[in-house]
Amino acid sequence: MQKPRVRFAPSPTGALHIGGVRTALYNYLYAKKLGGTFILRIEDTDQTRYVPGAEDYITEALAWCGLELDESPAKGGDYGPYRQSERKDMYGDFGHQLVRNGWGYYAFDTAEELDAKREEMEAKGEKFSYNALTRNSLRNSLTMSDAEVKELLDANADFTIRLKCPADEIVSINDIVRGKVEFQSNLLDDKVMLKSDGMPTYHLANVVDDYHMKITHVIRGEEWLPSTGHHVLLYRAFGWENSMPQFAHLPLILKPAPSSYLNNKNVDIYTDKFLEEFFKKHSDFTLKTKDQVRQAIRGILLDKDNLSARLQIKPKDKEDKIAIKGFLKSTLFGKLSKRDGDRLGFPVFPLAWQGEKPEDAFTGFREVGFDPMAMINFLAFLGWNPGTEQEIFSLEQLVEAFSLERIGKSGARFDYEKAKWFNQQYLIHGNNADLASQLKPLVASEGWSADDATLEKVAELYKQRATFIGDIPQAASYFFTDDFNYDEKNAKKKWKEKNAEKNHELVGILADTEDFSADNLEKVIKGFIEENELGFGDVMAPLRIAVSGVGGGPSLFEILALLGKEKSVGRLKKGYAHFEALKNA
Ligand code: GLU
Repeated sequence: MQKPRVRFAPSPTGALHIGGVRTALYNYLYAKKLGGTFILRIEDTDQTRYVPGAEDYITEALAWCGLELDESPAKGGDYGPYRQSERKDMYGDFGHQLVRNGWGYYAFDTAEELDAKREEMEAKGEKFSYNALTRNSLRNSLTMSDAEVKELLDANADFTIRLKCPADEIVSINDIVRGKVEFQSNLLDDKVMLKSDGMPTYHLANVVDDYHMKITHVIRGEEWLPSTGHHVLLYRAFGWENSMPQFAHLPLILKPAPSSYLNNKNVDIYTDKFLEEFFKKHSDFTLKTKDQVRQAIRGILLDKDNLSARLQIKPKDKEDKIAIKGFLKSTLFGKLSKRDGDRLGFPVFPLAWQGEKPEDAFTGFREVGFDPMAMINFLAFLGWNPGTEQEIFSLEQLVEAFSLERIGKSGARFDYEKAKWFNQQYLIHGNNADLASQLKPLVASEGWSADDATLEKVAELYKQRATFIGDIPQAASYFFTDDFNYDEKNAKKKWKEKNAEKNHELVGILADTEDFSADNLEKVIKGFIEENELGFGDVMAPLRIAVSGVGGGPSLFEILALLGKEKSVGRLKKGYAHFEALKNA
Protein backbone atom coordinates (compact mmCIF):
# COMPACT_ATOMS: atom_id res chain seq x y z
CA MET A 1 0.00 0.00 0.00
CA GLN A 2 1.11 3.52 -0.77
CA LYS A 3 2.29 5.36 2.32
CA PRO A 4 -0.05 8.21 3.18
CA ARG A 5 0.90 11.80 2.57
CA VAL A 6 -1.32 14.10 4.58
CA ARG A 7 -1.29 17.81 5.08
CA PHE A 8 -2.43 20.25 7.69
CA ALA A 9 -3.37 23.34 5.69
CA PRO A 10 -4.26 26.25 7.96
CA SER A 11 -4.82 29.79 6.77
CA PRO A 12 -2.78 32.27 8.79
CA THR A 13 -5.78 34.42 9.68
CA GLY A 14 -5.17 34.49 13.42
CA ALA A 15 -4.28 32.16 16.25
CA LEU A 16 -4.89 28.47 15.71
CA HIS A 17 -8.00 27.30 17.55
CA ILE A 18 -7.77 23.96 19.36
CA GLY A 19 -10.08 22.55 16.67
CA GLY A 20 -7.20 23.21 14.27
CA VAL A 21 -4.77 21.52 16.62
CA ARG A 22 -7.03 18.48 16.68
CA THR A 23 -7.07 18.41 12.87
CA ALA A 24 -3.27 18.60 12.85
CA LEU A 25 -3.11 15.85 15.48
CA TYR A 26 -5.33 13.43 13.57
CA ASN A 27 -3.32 14.04 10.40
CA TYR A 28 -0.11 13.43 12.33
CA LEU A 29 -1.38 10.27 14.01
CA TYR A 30 -2.64 8.85 10.75
CA ALA A 31 0.62 9.56 8.91
CA LYS A 32 2.81 8.18 11.66
CA LYS A 33 0.71 5.08 12.14
CA LEU A 34 1.28 4.09 8.53
CA GLY A 35 4.83 5.37 8.18
CA GLY A 36 3.61 8.26 6.04
CA THR A 37 4.41 11.94 5.71
CA PHE A 38 2.93 14.82 7.71
CA ILE A 39 3.03 18.12 5.86
CA LEU A 40 2.33 21.71 6.84
CA ARG A 41 1.03 23.89 4.02
CA ILE A 42 0.26 27.51 4.73
CA GLU A 43 -2.80 28.63 2.77
CA ASP A 44 -2.18 32.35 2.58
CA THR A 45 -3.61 33.35 -0.77
CA ASP A 46 -6.24 35.60 0.77
CA GLN A 47 -4.08 38.57 1.63
CA THR A 48 -7.03 40.52 3.01
CA ARG A 49 -7.34 38.03 5.85
CA TYR A 50 -3.62 37.61 6.47
CA VAL A 51 -2.60 38.28 10.06
CA PRO A 52 1.07 38.89 10.82
CA GLY A 53 2.41 36.46 13.37
CA ALA A 54 -0.22 33.83 12.68
CA GLU A 55 2.13 31.51 10.79
CA ASP A 56 4.71 31.67 13.56
CA TYR A 57 1.95 30.94 16.03
CA ILE A 58 0.93 27.83 14.07
CA THR A 59 4.50 26.56 13.88
CA GLU A 60 5.13 27.22 17.55
CA ALA A 61 1.88 25.55 18.60
CA LEU A 62 2.67 22.39 16.59
CA ALA A 63 6.17 22.29 18.05
CA TRP A 64 4.84 22.73 21.60
CA CYS A 65 2.48 19.81 21.03
CA GLY A 66 5.31 17.65 19.75
CA LEU A 67 3.71 17.18 16.32
CA GLU A 68 6.85 17.03 14.26
CA LEU A 69 6.53 17.95 10.61
CA ASP A 70 8.14 16.05 7.77
CA GLU A 71 7.67 18.79 5.17
CA SER A 72 6.89 22.42 5.89
CA PRO A 73 7.81 25.98 4.91
CA ALA A 74 10.66 25.91 7.43
CA LYS A 75 11.84 22.39 6.71
CA GLY A 76 11.25 22.33 2.99
CA GLY A 77 10.69 19.06 1.10
CA ASP A 78 10.39 17.71 -2.41
CA TYR A 79 7.03 19.29 -3.11
CA GLY A 80 7.62 22.88 -2.02
CA PRO A 81 7.21 25.69 -1.68
CA TYR A 82 4.84 25.02 1.20
CA ARG A 83 3.42 28.52 1.39
CA GLN A 84 0.73 29.19 -1.19
CA SER A 85 1.79 32.81 -1.59
CA GLU A 86 5.08 31.46 -2.95
CA ARG A 87 3.26 29.20 -5.41
CA LYS A 88 0.89 31.86 -6.68
CA ASP A 89 2.27 31.95 -10.21
CA MET A 90 1.13 28.44 -10.96
CA TYR A 91 -2.55 28.86 -10.09
CA GLY A 92 -3.44 31.29 -12.89
CA ASP A 93 -2.69 28.69 -15.55
CA PHE A 94 -4.99 26.19 -13.93
CA GLY A 95 -7.73 28.79 -13.77
CA HIS A 96 -7.41 29.44 -17.50
CA GLN A 97 -7.18 25.73 -18.20
CA LEU A 98 -10.68 25.42 -16.75
CA VAL A 99 -11.94 27.89 -19.32
CA ARG A 100 -10.12 26.15 -22.16
CA ASN A 101 -11.50 22.72 -21.40
CA GLY A 102 -15.07 23.89 -20.83
CA TRP A 103 -15.08 23.53 -17.04
CA GLY A 104 -14.88 27.21 -16.39
CA TYR A 105 -15.83 30.57 -17.81
CA TYR A 106 -14.94 34.21 -17.54
CA ALA A 107 -17.42 36.24 -15.56
CA PHE A 108 -17.43 39.98 -16.09
CA ASP A 109 -20.31 40.91 -13.78
CA THR A 110 -19.54 43.78 -11.48
CA ALA A 111 -20.43 43.67 -7.80
CA GLU A 112 -23.27 46.13 -8.54
CA GLU A 113 -24.65 43.95 -11.30
CA LEU A 114 -24.63 40.92 -9.05
CA ASP A 115 -26.34 42.87 -6.27
CA ALA A 116 -29.02 43.99 -8.69
CA LYS A 117 -29.60 40.41 -9.79
CA ARG A 118 -29.77 39.29 -6.18
CA GLU A 119 -32.36 41.95 -5.36
CA GLU A 120 -34.37 41.12 -8.44
CA MET A 121 -34.59 37.47 -7.43
CA GLU A 122 -35.22 38.15 -3.79
CA ALA A 123 -38.12 40.39 -4.76
CA LYS A 124 -39.62 37.28 -6.37
CA GLY A 125 -38.96 35.31 -3.17
CA GLU A 126 -36.06 33.42 -4.74
CA LYS A 127 -32.53 33.08 -3.50
CA PHE A 128 -29.75 34.16 -5.79
CA SER A 129 -26.89 31.86 -6.56
CA TYR A 130 -24.50 32.01 -9.51
CA ASN A 131 -25.19 28.56 -10.91
CA ALA A 132 -26.52 26.42 -13.73
CA LEU A 133 -29.91 28.13 -13.45
CA THR A 134 -28.75 31.73 -13.46
CA ARG A 135 -25.46 31.84 -15.35
CA ASN A 136 -27.19 32.04 -18.69
CA SER A 137 -28.67 35.37 -17.77
CA LEU A 138 -25.45 36.91 -16.46
CA ARG A 139 -22.48 38.63 -18.07
CA ASN A 140 -19.99 35.89 -18.77
CA SER A 141 -18.21 34.10 -21.55
CA LEU A 142 -21.08 31.62 -21.81
CA THR A 143 -23.57 34.28 -22.73
CA MET A 144 -21.30 36.58 -24.74
CA SER A 145 -19.91 36.11 -28.20
CA ASP A 146 -16.25 35.22 -28.57
CA ALA A 147 -15.58 38.61 -30.08
CA GLU A 148 -17.16 40.39 -27.12
CA VAL A 149 -15.12 38.33 -24.69
CA LYS A 150 -11.91 38.95 -26.59
CA GLU A 151 -12.60 42.65 -26.64
CA LEU A 152 -13.09 42.76 -22.90
CA LEU A 153 -9.99 40.70 -22.24
CA ASP A 154 -7.92 42.82 -24.60
CA ALA A 155 -9.13 45.91 -22.79
CA ASN A 156 -7.97 44.43 -19.50
CA ALA A 157 -11.47 44.36 -18.10
CA ASP A 158 -11.86 42.84 -14.63
CA PHE A 159 -12.97 39.26 -14.68
CA THR A 160 -13.14 36.24 -12.47
CA ILE A 161 -13.00 32.63 -13.56
CA ARG A 162 -15.87 30.54 -12.25
CA LEU A 163 -16.23 26.79 -12.12
CA LYS A 164 -19.02 25.61 -14.43
CA CYS A 165 -20.89 23.16 -12.27
CA PRO A 166 -22.81 20.66 -14.40
CA ALA A 167 -26.58 20.50 -14.20
CA ASP A 168 -28.52 17.50 -12.90
CA GLU A 169 -25.71 15.37 -11.65
CA ILE A 170 -25.00 13.67 -8.38
CA VAL A 171 -21.45 14.19 -7.26
CA SER A 172 -20.48 11.83 -4.49
CA ILE A 173 -17.59 10.94 -2.25
CA ASN A 174 -16.95 8.07 0.08
CA ASP A 175 -15.94 9.89 3.20
CA ILE A 176 -13.98 7.73 5.61
CA VAL A 177 -15.86 9.21 8.57
CA ARG A 178 -19.28 9.90 7.12
CA GLY A 179 -19.63 7.23 4.46
CA LYS A 180 -21.26 8.12 1.18
CA VAL A 181 -21.94 11.84 0.85
CA GLU A 182 -23.79 13.11 -2.19
CA PHE A 183 -23.96 16.58 -3.65
CA GLN A 184 -26.73 17.49 -6.04
CA SER A 185 -24.89 19.53 -8.66
CA ASN A 186 -27.83 21.88 -9.23
CA LEU A 187 -27.36 23.07 -5.68
CA LEU A 188 -23.66 23.80 -6.17
CA ASP A 189 -22.89 27.39 -7.05
CA ASP A 190 -20.38 28.27 -9.75
CA LYS A 191 -17.73 29.28 -7.29
CA VAL A 192 -15.04 31.76 -8.21
CA MET A 193 -11.75 29.96 -8.81
CA LEU A 194 -9.57 32.83 -9.93
CA LYS A 195 -10.24 36.26 -8.51
CA SER A 196 -10.06 39.50 -10.46
CA ASP A 197 -6.63 40.20 -8.97
CA GLY A 198 -5.39 36.97 -10.51
CA MET A 199 -5.15 35.18 -7.17
CA PRO A 200 -6.79 31.80 -6.71
CA THR A 201 -9.54 31.21 -4.20
CA TYR A 202 -9.07 28.63 -1.48
CA HIS A 203 -10.78 25.94 -3.57
CA LEU A 204 -8.54 26.17 -6.61
CA ALA A 205 -5.28 26.52 -4.71
CA ASN A 206 -6.22 23.76 -2.28
CA VAL A 207 -7.01 21.20 -4.97
CA VAL A 208 -4.10 22.15 -7.23
CA ASP A 209 -1.72 21.82 -4.29
CA ASP A 210 -3.17 18.61 -2.92
CA TYR A 211 -2.68 17.10 -6.35
CA HIS A 212 0.85 18.38 -6.83
CA MET A 213 1.91 17.49 -3.31
CA LYS A 214 0.59 13.97 -3.89
CA ILE A 215 -1.75 14.15 -0.91
CA THR A 216 -3.44 10.81 -0.36
CA HIS A 217 -5.88 11.72 2.42
CA VAL A 218 -7.59 15.00 3.17
CA ILE A 219 -8.38 15.00 6.88
CA ARG A 220 -10.08 18.24 7.85
CA GLY A 221 -12.93 19.81 9.78
CA GLU A 222 -16.56 19.20 8.93
CA GLU A 223 -17.00 22.83 7.93
CA TRP A 224 -15.23 21.97 4.66
CA LEU A 225 -17.60 19.17 3.75
CA PRO A 226 -19.96 21.45 1.77
CA SER A 227 -17.01 22.54 -0.42
CA THR A 228 -16.02 18.99 -1.23
CA GLY A 229 -18.50 18.64 -4.09
CA HIS A 230 -16.71 21.49 -5.85
CA HIS A 231 -13.35 19.92 -5.11
CA VAL A 232 -14.42 16.65 -6.73
CA LEU A 233 -15.53 18.59 -9.80
CA LEU A 234 -12.14 20.29 -9.95
CA TYR A 235 -10.33 16.95 -9.88
CA ARG A 236 -12.61 15.86 -12.69
CA ALA A 237 -12.04 19.07 -14.63
CA PHE A 238 -8.27 18.64 -14.55
CA GLY A 239 -8.42 14.93 -15.32
CA TRP A 240 -7.00 14.04 -11.94
CA GLU A 241 -9.93 12.08 -10.59
CA ASN A 242 -7.93 8.87 -10.45
CA SER A 243 -5.48 10.37 -8.02
CA MET A 244 -8.07 12.20 -5.95
CA PRO A 245 -7.31 11.90 -2.22
CA GLN A 246 -9.67 10.15 0.13
CA PHE A 247 -11.63 12.45 2.40
CA ALA A 248 -12.20 12.26 6.14
CA HIS A 249 -14.26 15.08 7.63
CA LEU A 250 -13.86 15.45 11.38
CA PRO A 251 -16.84 16.16 13.63
CA LEU A 252 -17.33 19.63 15.07
CA ILE A 253 -16.09 20.48 18.54
CA LEU A 254 -19.14 21.66 20.43
CA LYS A 255 -19.59 24.08 23.30
CA PRO A 256 -19.75 22.57 26.79
CA ALA A 257 -23.18 21.39 27.91
CA PRO A 258 -24.90 24.37 29.60
CA SER A 259 -25.97 22.10 32.44
CA SER A 260 -22.29 21.57 33.24
CA TYR A 261 -21.78 25.19 34.25
CA LEU A 262 -25.19 26.81 34.83
CA ASN A 263 -26.67 26.58 38.30
CA ASN A 264 -29.04 28.51 40.52
CA LYS A 265 -26.15 30.30 42.19
CA ASN A 266 -24.54 31.71 39.07
CA VAL A 267 -27.69 32.25 37.04
CA ASP A 268 -27.58 36.02 37.62
CA ILE A 269 -23.98 36.26 36.53
CA TYR A 270 -24.70 34.47 33.26
CA THR A 271 -27.94 36.37 32.76
CA ASP A 272 -26.04 39.64 32.92
CA LYS A 273 -23.29 38.41 30.60
CA PHE A 274 -25.80 37.20 28.03
CA LEU A 275 -27.92 40.32 28.37
CA GLU A 276 -24.96 42.50 27.54
CA GLU A 277 -24.04 40.33 24.54
CA PHE A 278 -27.66 40.27 23.40
CA PHE A 279 -27.89 44.03 23.29
CA LYS A 280 -24.52 44.28 21.57
CA LYS A 281 -25.84 42.04 18.84
CA HIS A 282 -29.32 43.56 18.74
CA SER A 283 -28.48 47.22 19.22
CA ASP A 284 -31.76 48.12 17.55
CA PHE A 285 -33.81 45.98 19.89
CA THR A 286 -36.68 48.11 21.08
CA LEU A 287 -39.50 45.65 21.54
CA LYS A 288 -38.94 45.07 25.21
CA THR A 289 -37.18 46.91 27.96
CA LYS A 290 -33.84 45.63 29.15
CA ASP A 291 -35.41 44.39 32.33
CA GLN A 292 -38.00 42.35 30.47
CA VAL A 293 -35.33 40.78 28.31
CA ARG A 294 -33.36 40.08 31.46
CA GLN A 295 -36.32 38.29 33.02
CA ALA A 296 -36.87 36.25 29.88
CA ILE A 297 -33.22 35.16 29.69
CA ARG A 298 -33.09 34.38 33.41
CA GLY A 299 -36.25 32.30 33.25
CA ILE A 300 -34.85 30.18 30.45
CA LEU A 301 -31.43 29.73 32.09
CA LEU A 302 -33.04 28.66 35.37
CA ASP A 303 -34.62 25.74 33.55
CA LYS A 304 -31.17 24.49 32.57
CA ASP A 305 -32.18 20.87 32.18
CA ASN A 306 -34.87 21.69 29.62
CA LEU A 307 -33.02 24.22 27.54
CA SER A 308 -33.59 22.56 24.18
CA ALA A 309 -37.33 22.50 24.73
CA ARG A 310 -37.36 26.03 26.14
CA LEU A 311 -35.49 27.38 23.14
CA GLN A 312 -37.73 25.85 20.53
CA ILE A 313 -39.56 28.49 18.56
CA LYS A 314 -43.32 28.06 18.94
CA PRO A 315 -45.91 29.33 16.45
CA LYS A 316 -47.28 31.84 18.95
CA ASP A 317 -43.86 33.33 19.73
CA LYS A 318 -43.57 37.00 18.91
CA GLU A 319 -40.59 38.63 17.26
CA ASP A 320 -38.91 39.56 20.52
CA LYS A 321 -39.21 36.07 21.96
CA ILE A 322 -37.86 34.61 18.73
CA ALA A 323 -34.87 36.96 18.89
CA ILE A 324 -34.09 36.02 22.48
CA LYS A 325 -34.47 32.30 21.85
CA GLY A 326 -32.36 32.48 18.70
CA PHE A 327 -29.64 34.36 20.51
CA LEU A 328 -29.55 31.92 23.43
CA LYS A 329 -29.56 28.97 21.11
CA SER A 330 -26.46 30.16 19.28
CA THR A 331 -24.82 31.23 22.53
CA LEU A 332 -25.39 28.01 24.44
CA PHE A 333 -25.19 25.39 21.71
CA GLY A 334 -23.25 24.66 18.56
CA LYS A 335 -19.64 25.02 17.62
CA LEU A 336 -17.09 25.96 20.28
CA SER A 337 -15.90 29.52 19.70
CA LYS A 338 -13.32 31.90 21.04
CA ARG A 339 -16.17 33.68 22.83
CA ASP A 340 -16.91 30.57 24.87
CA GLY A 341 -13.40 30.64 26.24
CA ASP A 342 -13.81 34.25 27.38
CA ARG A 343 -17.27 33.67 28.74
CA LEU A 344 -16.64 30.42 30.57
CA GLY A 345 -13.08 31.10 31.62
CA PHE A 346 -11.05 28.43 29.86
CA PRO A 347 -8.55 28.43 27.02
CA VAL A 348 -9.66 27.42 23.52
CA PHE A 349 -6.26 28.04 21.97
CA PRO A 350 -3.01 26.15 22.55
CA LEU A 351 -0.88 29.24 23.18
CA ALA A 352 -1.55 32.76 24.35
CA TRP A 353 -2.02 35.41 21.68
CA GLN A 354 -1.28 39.07 22.05
CA GLY A 355 -3.69 40.43 19.45
CA GLU A 356 -3.60 43.90 17.97
CA LYS A 357 -5.70 45.42 20.74
CA PRO A 358 -5.65 44.35 24.40
CA GLU A 359 -9.23 43.08 24.12
CA ASP A 360 -8.15 40.70 21.33
CA ALA A 361 -5.59 39.00 23.56
CA PHE A 362 -6.27 35.63 25.14
CA THR A 363 -4.54 32.94 27.08
CA GLY A 364 -3.62 29.43 25.98
CA PHE A 365 -3.43 25.92 27.35
CA ARG A 366 0.32 26.38 27.69
CA GLU A 367 0.04 29.55 29.75
CA VAL A 368 -2.68 28.09 31.97
CA GLY A 369 -0.14 25.41 32.82
CA PHE A 370 -1.13 22.37 30.79
CA ASP A 371 1.33 19.66 29.95
CA PRO A 372 1.19 19.64 26.13
CA MET A 373 0.65 15.88 26.12
CA ALA A 374 -2.31 16.22 28.48
CA MET A 375 -3.88 18.64 26.01
CA ILE A 376 -3.08 16.30 23.12
CA ASN A 377 -4.53 13.35 24.98
CA PHE A 378 -7.68 15.40 25.67
CA LEU A 379 -7.95 16.51 22.04
CA ALA A 380 -7.41 12.98 20.74
CA PHE A 381 -10.62 11.99 22.51
CA LEU A 382 -12.62 14.89 21.06
CA GLY A 383 -14.03 12.94 18.17
CA TRP A 384 -12.11 9.66 18.37
CA ASN A 385 -11.97 6.80 20.83
CA PRO A 386 -9.77 3.74 20.96
CA GLY A 387 -12.64 1.34 21.58
CA THR A 388 -11.09 0.28 24.88
CA GLU A 389 -11.22 1.62 28.43
CA GLN A 390 -7.75 3.13 28.20
CA GLU A 391 -7.74 6.91 28.51
CA ILE A 392 -4.14 7.89 29.17
CA PHE A 393 -1.94 7.62 26.11
CA SER A 394 1.53 8.76 25.22
CA LEU A 395 1.93 10.18 21.73
CA GLU A 396 3.47 6.88 20.58
CA GLN A 397 0.54 4.96 22.03
CA LEU A 398 -1.90 7.27 20.27
CA VAL A 399 -0.08 6.63 16.99
CA GLU A 400 -0.37 2.92 17.65
CA ALA A 401 -4.07 3.00 18.58
CA PHE A 402 -5.30 5.56 16.06
CA SER A 403 -7.50 4.84 13.08
CA LEU A 404 -9.68 7.08 10.95
CA GLU A 405 -12.44 4.48 11.15
CA ARG A 406 -12.88 5.12 14.87
CA ILE A 407 -13.64 8.81 14.41
CA GLY A 408 -17.25 9.58 15.28
CA LYS A 409 -19.76 11.39 13.11
CA SER A 410 -21.47 13.43 15.79
CA GLY A 411 -20.09 16.58 17.36
CA ALA A 412 -17.67 16.18 20.27
CA ARG A 413 -18.48 18.22 23.33
CA PHE A 414 -15.69 20.28 24.85
CA ASP A 415 -15.43 19.55 28.55
CA TYR A 416 -12.86 21.63 30.39
CA GLU A 417 -13.14 19.56 33.56
CA LYS A 418 -12.05 16.58 31.50
CA ALA A 419 -9.10 18.55 30.13
CA LYS A 420 -8.02 19.33 33.69
CA TRP A 421 -8.50 15.72 34.66
CA PHE A 422 -6.09 14.69 31.91
CA ASN A 423 -3.55 17.18 33.17
CA GLN A 424 -3.91 15.85 36.68
CA GLN A 425 -3.34 12.33 35.42
CA TYR A 426 -0.18 13.46 33.66
CA LEU A 427 1.03 15.05 36.87
CA ILE A 428 0.24 12.00 38.99
CA HIS A 429 1.95 9.67 36.56
CA GLY A 430 4.76 12.09 35.84
CA ASN A 431 8.32 11.17 36.62
CA ASN A 432 9.45 13.09 39.72
CA ALA A 433 12.76 14.13 38.22
CA ASP A 434 10.99 15.52 35.13
CA LEU A 435 8.49 17.34 37.28
CA ALA A 436 11.33 18.71 39.40
CA SER A 437 12.98 20.19 36.34
CA GLN A 438 9.70 21.83 35.41
CA LEU A 439 9.31 23.13 38.94
CA LYS A 440 12.75 24.68 39.04
CA PRO A 441 12.05 27.76 36.86
CA LEU A 442 8.62 28.21 38.43
CA VAL A 443 10.14 28.25 41.90
CA ALA A 444 12.89 30.57 40.71
CA SER A 445 10.37 32.99 39.25
CA GLU A 446 8.95 33.41 42.75
CA GLY A 447 12.41 34.41 43.91
CA TRP A 448 12.99 31.10 45.71
CA SER A 449 15.38 28.26 45.14
CA ALA A 450 15.73 24.64 46.13
CA ASP A 451 18.07 21.79 45.31
CA ASP A 452 17.02 19.08 42.89
CA ALA A 453 16.45 16.48 45.60
CA THR A 454 14.06 18.77 47.43
CA LEU A 455 12.23 19.63 44.21
CA GLU A 456 11.84 15.96 43.41
CA LYS A 457 10.42 15.22 46.82
CA VAL A 458 8.09 18.22 46.61
CA ALA A 459 6.91 16.93 43.22
CA GLU A 460 6.25 13.52 44.76
CA LEU A 461 4.36 14.97 47.73
CA TYR A 462 2.27 17.45 45.76
CA LYS A 463 1.53 15.88 42.41
CA GLN A 464 -1.53 14.11 43.75
CA ARG A 465 -2.97 17.38 45.02
CA ALA A 466 -2.45 19.72 42.10
CA THR A 467 -4.18 20.19 38.77
CA PHE A 468 -1.30 22.07 37.19
CA ILE A 469 2.40 21.97 37.95
CA GLY A 470 2.16 25.72 38.43
CA ASP A 471 -0.10 25.20 41.44
CA ILE A 472 2.72 23.50 43.32
CA PRO A 473 5.22 26.28 44.15
CA GLN A 474 2.64 28.35 46.04
CA ALA A 475 1.09 25.35 47.76
CA ALA A 476 4.52 24.11 48.84
CA SER A 477 6.05 27.56 49.39
CA TYR A 478 7.14 26.71 52.95
CA PHE A 479 9.74 24.35 51.53
CA PHE A 480 11.34 27.22 49.67
CA THR A 481 11.11 30.08 52.14
CA ASP A 482 10.83 30.68 55.87
CA ASP A 483 8.79 33.71 55.11
CA PHE A 484 5.25 32.31 55.16
CA ASN A 485 2.13 33.34 57.01
CA TYR A 486 0.30 31.25 59.57
CA ASP A 487 -3.36 30.48 59.20
CA GLU A 488 -3.93 32.29 62.47
CA LYS A 489 -7.59 31.53 62.82
CA ASN A 490 -6.90 27.86 62.55
CA ALA A 491 -3.84 28.08 64.82
CA LYS A 492 -5.84 29.79 67.54
CA LYS A 493 -8.46 27.07 67.38
CA LYS A 494 -5.97 24.20 67.41
CA TRP A 495 -3.54 25.50 70.02
CA LYS A 496 -4.95 24.42 73.39
CA GLU A 497 -3.50 25.78 76.59
CA LYS A 498 -4.00 22.46 78.37
CA ASN A 499 -1.70 20.72 75.89
CA ALA A 500 0.89 23.47 75.68
CA GLU A 501 3.36 21.83 78.00
CA LYS A 502 3.18 18.51 76.17
CA ASN A 503 3.53 20.19 72.79
CA HIS A 504 6.71 21.91 73.95
CA GLU A 505 7.96 18.62 75.37
CA LEU A 506 7.51 16.97 71.96
CA VAL A 507 9.63 19.67 70.32
CA GLY A 508 12.41 18.72 72.73
CA ILE A 509 11.99 15.05 71.85
CA LEU A 510 12.15 15.82 68.15
CA ALA A 511 15.28 17.87 68.70
CA ASP A 512 16.87 14.76 70.21
CA THR A 513 15.64 12.37 67.52
CA GLU A 514 18.55 11.01 65.52
CA ASP A 515 16.62 9.32 62.74
CA PHE A 516 14.60 12.10 61.14
CA SER A 517 13.04 9.90 58.45
CA ALA A 518 9.30 10.07 57.84
CA ASP A 519 8.83 6.50 59.10
CA ASN A 520 10.67 7.08 62.32
CA LEU A 521 9.02 10.45 62.92
CA GLU A 522 5.66 8.78 62.57
CA LYS A 523 6.65 6.24 65.23
CA VAL A 524 8.01 8.88 67.59
CA ILE A 525 5.10 11.30 67.26
CA LYS A 526 2.33 8.72 67.35
CA GLY A 527 4.05 6.97 70.25
CA PHE A 528 4.21 10.24 72.17
CA ILE A 529 0.52 10.96 71.56
CA GLU A 530 -0.57 7.52 72.70
CA GLU A 531 1.70 7.46 75.70
CA ASN A 532 0.35 10.77 76.93
CA GLU A 533 -3.24 9.97 75.98
CA LEU A 534 -3.50 13.10 73.82
CA GLY A 535 -5.74 13.67 70.83
CA PHE A 536 -4.05 13.28 67.43
CA GLY A 537 -5.45 16.61 66.25
CA ASP A 538 -4.29 18.38 69.40
CA VAL A 539 -0.70 17.54 68.61
CA MET A 540 -0.50 17.16 64.87
CA ALA A 541 -2.55 20.23 63.88
CA PRO A 542 -0.37 22.79 65.71
CA LEU A 543 2.71 20.94 64.47
CA ARG A 544 1.55 21.19 60.91
CA ILE A 545 0.60 24.85 61.09
CA ALA A 546 3.88 25.74 62.79
CA VAL A 547 6.03 24.14 60.08
CA SER A 548 3.92 24.90 57.01
CA GLY A 549 1.60 27.75 57.96
CA VAL A 550 -1.54 25.85 56.92
CA GLY A 551 -3.75 23.09 58.26
CA GLY A 552 -3.75 20.84 55.17
CA GLY A 553 -1.23 19.25 52.84
CA PRO A 554 0.70 16.04 52.37
CA SER A 555 1.80 13.71 55.16
CA LEU A 556 3.10 15.69 58.15
CA PHE A 557 5.89 13.18 58.71
CA GLU A 558 7.08 13.59 55.14
CA ILE A 559 7.00 17.35 55.54
CA LEU A 560 9.12 17.22 58.70
CA ALA A 561 11.58 14.78 57.16
CA LEU A 562 12.02 16.91 54.07
CA LEU A 563 12.45 20.12 56.05
CA GLY A 564 15.01 18.36 58.22
CA LYS A 565 15.54 18.53 61.92
CA GLU A 566 17.03 21.95 62.24
CA LYS A 567 14.37 23.74 60.23
CA SER A 568 11.50 21.75 61.72
CA VAL A 569 12.54 22.32 65.32
CA GLY A 570 13.30 25.99 64.71
CA ARG A 571 9.87 26.52 63.13
CA LEU A 572 8.12 24.62 65.90
CA LYS A 573 9.70 26.79 68.57
CA LYS A 574 8.92 29.99 66.73
CA GLY A 575 5.41 28.86 65.79
CA TYR A 576 4.41 27.68 69.23
CA ALA A 577 5.60 30.92 70.80
CA HIS A 578 3.52 32.77 68.22
CA PHE A 579 0.42 30.65 68.85
CA GLU A 580 0.70 31.22 72.61
CA ALA A 581 0.98 34.95 72.06
CA LEU A 582 -2.04 34.81 69.79
CA LYS A 583 -4.05 33.02 72.47
CA ASN A 584 -3.06 35.56 75.09
CA ALA A 585 -3.67 38.59 72.94
N1 GLU B 1 -7.08 26.56 4.56
C1 GLU B 1 -8.17 25.76 5.03
C2 GLU B 1 -8.32 26.04 6.52
O1 GLU B 1 -7.97 27.08 6.93
C3 GLU B 1 -7.85 24.31 4.74
C4 GLU B 1 -9.01 23.39 4.72
C5 GLU B 1 -8.58 22.06 4.18
O2 GLU B 1 -7.90 21.33 4.92
O3 GLU B 1 -8.85 21.78 3.03
O4 GLU B 1 -8.80 25.27 7.30
